[in-house]
Amino acid sequence: MVYNYTEEAVRRILPDIIRDYLKTHPHICTCDLCKDDIMALALNQLPPHYVVSDRGTIFTQVSFDQIGGKAQVVAAITRAIEQVSNKPRHQ
Ligand SMILES: [Zn+2]
Repeated sequence: MVYNYTEEAVRRILPDIIRDYLKTHPHICTCDLCKDDIMALALNQLPPHYVVSDRGTIFTQVSFDQIGGKAQVVAAITRAIEQVSNKPRHQ
């Protein structure tokens, strides 16, 4: 199977980043639609990094070194949260 390592990394740390962001911005929406939008926007800002795994499961621990460092991923997610919370696609 082919996996996008970047996607796995974003999926793993997204809840932590949202939790941190909520500390300073308690009123942002964190419904499933907004979380999906945040994930898609963040992934569009980051280069994909495809890996092949013959097992059904991958990565017990995500290594951010492989995808340009954690800071880049956190920055992309934070930008995505700002964009989505400024303009959610629902009322
Ligand atoms: Zn929402």
